[in-house]
Order: sequence, then structure tokens, then C-alpha cells
Amino acid sequence: MKCPFCADPDTKVIDSRLIGEGNQIRRRRECIKCSERFTTYESAELNFPRIIKSDGRREPFNEEKLRAGILRALEKRPVKTERIDIAVANIMHKLRVTGDREVAAMMIGNWVMEQLRTIDQVAYVRFASVYRSFEDVRAFLDEIEQLEHELPPELRKSQLDLLDSEDGEES
Ligand SMILES: [Zn+2]
Repeated sequence: MKCPFCADPDTKVIDSRLIGEGNQIRRRRECIKCSERFTTYESAELNFPRIIKSDGRREPFNEEKLRAGILRALEKRPVKTERIDIAVANIMHKLRVTGDREVAAMMIGNWVMEQLRTIDQVAYVRFASVYRSFEDVRAFLDEIEQLEHELPPELRKSQLDLLDSEDGEES
């Protein structure tokens, strides 16, 4: 790399060591031309795109925030932590392979819905009702109806009971 002092393109590495837990390499370099020394750090770039919020602001992707959103939807639901970890990993994988430098928050919301739909239908409806703000009550009911058809009969009853009791709590 170029020398930061004289911009000469020839520098040599005079020392190289792993730092932290081995996630980073620190290199001492010396310029061939002016003999100034400087340090560079090298670490893997995971290349997460930035997130475009609905108001147009950009922010760095935040794994904790993603997990918190999913956990909120799954509150008091009988879902294993490992299953949540898989959902988070799946979404992060999708994010990484888009190849885009920026991704709309809405897109991540859709991925979360996609994951929740396969994990827990109640959580899915919770998340979707807040996130997608269904255009009208009809669309929301259609969605629930569709879910009912996809559920095996024995699950159908317990899930619907839960939905009913939640309505009761909130009113
Ligand atoms: Zn130099």
C-alpha cells in the first residue's frame, strides 16, 4: 500500500502479529523511499449492507436489534432459543448475499415475517399486524384464515385459543 507520508507505492512489512483473539492482524510497515513507519490493521469485513429506514435515514445493521424484534414477537411463546438463533442466522445470511450496499428496513421486516411464519403462527400474526399494518381488516382476516388452513388440525385449535385469549387481555 501507499506510504501515508510520501505516497510512494512501495512499502515493506517489517512486523506482523495477530491481535485480540486472532480476528485481526497488526502490521508494521516501512516506506522504502522515506523510511517512515506506520501501522495497518487487517480484519475480515462481513459486508453487511446499511439499513434504509422508512424515513430515509441510514443506519448500520444491528444484529441485537433484529433479535430483539423477533423476541418481542415470540414473547411467552413456546419456542426454543436455538430456533430463534437459526432464524436470525438465516436473515443475516440473506442480508449478506444481497450484494447491495443498502437494504430497506422493510425488506428485513419481510424476512422476519417469513421466518416467524414457519416458527410460530401467533408470533407471525403479532409481528405482521404491527409491521405490515394491513391495509384493512379484511386483508388481515384473510391472512389469518389462510394460516388456519396451513396448520395441522391439532395445532389449529391451540393456536386459535391463544389468539382468542390475547384479544381478551388487550381489550
Ligand atoms: Zn514514504
